[in-house]
Amino acid sequence: MNWPGIIEAYRAFLPVTEKTPVVTLFEGNTPLVRASRLCEALSLPIDLYLKYEGTNPTGSFKDRGMTLAISKAKEAGAQAVICASTGNTSASAAAFSARAELPAYVLIPEGKIAVGKLAQAMIHGATVVQVTGNFDEALVLVKEIAQKYPITLVNSINPYRLEGQKTAAFEICDQLGHAPDYHFLPVGNAGNITAYWRGYKDYHKLEKISLLPKMMGFQAAGAAPIVLGHKVEKPDTIATAIRIGNPASWKEAITAAQESQGKILSVTDEEIIYAYRKIAALEGLFCEPASAASVAGVIKLSKTGIFDVGARSPRPMRMVCTLTGHGLKDADFAVGKCKQPVTVKANINDVLKVLGL
Ligand SMILES: *Cc1c(COP(=O)(O)O)cnc(C)c1O
Repeated sequence: MNWPGIIEAYRAFLPVTEKTPVVTLFEGNTPLVRASRLCEALSLPIDLYLKYEGTNPTGSFKDRGMTLAISKAKEAGAQAVICASTGNTSASAAAFSARAELPAYVLIPEGKIAVGKLAQAMIHGATVVQVTGNFDEALVLVKEIAQKYPITLVNSINPYRLEGQKTAAFEICDQLGHAPDYHFLPVGNAGNITAYWRGYKDYHKLEKISLLPKMMGFQAAGAAPIVLGHKVEKPDTIATAIRIGNPASWKEAITAAQESQGKILSVTDEEIIYAYRKIAALEGLFCEPASAASVAGVIKLSKTGIFDVGARSPRPMRMVCTLTGHGLKDADFAVGKCKQPVTVKANINDVLKVLGL
């Protein structure tokens, strides 16, 4: 059977009716990849899986929330949609709006988004405005515009975004046959950790799973307001998708961590880049720098020994890390982190020499 997209696949769990016009790009149904090489190479005593959201139609998990937000906007008769974005929200909003025949307006922090994401917003026909400020400032502006005009805000404060995003937790339970012991993910505006927790709780209430995971959120050290307990005026990290100093779902993220007995912590840019390279080199999955904050968190915590289970435990801890977006969105960043290719004349001896053959 062809995958029908997340609204049809999980219709019973979502706020839609027969009247809702479903705008879909057949998002969701992303791979859950067992990361045994990574565990072996880094001596992680755990059973680790990577939920690779880079295979969504626009290359990030934002599509799960956007299919619902745009469908509901269409149902409500919105005349346009608007968002502030570190890149992926605008890419997704632009694509789904194109399909829904709705104009999209996106505000992005000037010079701080990956070029692939900018390209997506532009090619899908969104009106792109760069602001000489950061994401948090752009979000204040779009909120004000959405209040004054018949334009729907599609940032994650739009309640339909999180409802759509929670389907990733359903998929993980369906794929594994149960919930993991721990779920790790990067935290920016903190919507996704909130959505996953809601998804796991929905499945638990219906007794589709018997245990709930501990939710482990990771911010970048230079953009870690939740960890620090105060807003960060000038958030700074190479992980541009989580370069946020005043998360919209701040309280909800703390609730998710507390209710699940998890934590919200931070990782440095160096730790993020290390994980980013290892995921690509050992597992064949190319993710965004921000996505790698989840695996960086696992590596960091494993050093404290908290995942070492006693000899009487029947099995190692099961963990899932969400890889939130595709690495090709920021190809320049990857190229800059690697050894540059050697150039030789087009002759066999020169080629063999550099190949060491
Ligand atoms: C949006 C985004 C995040 C952060 O998700 P929040 O819901 O804002 O916490 C992380 N990684 C990528 C690739 C994203 O696009």
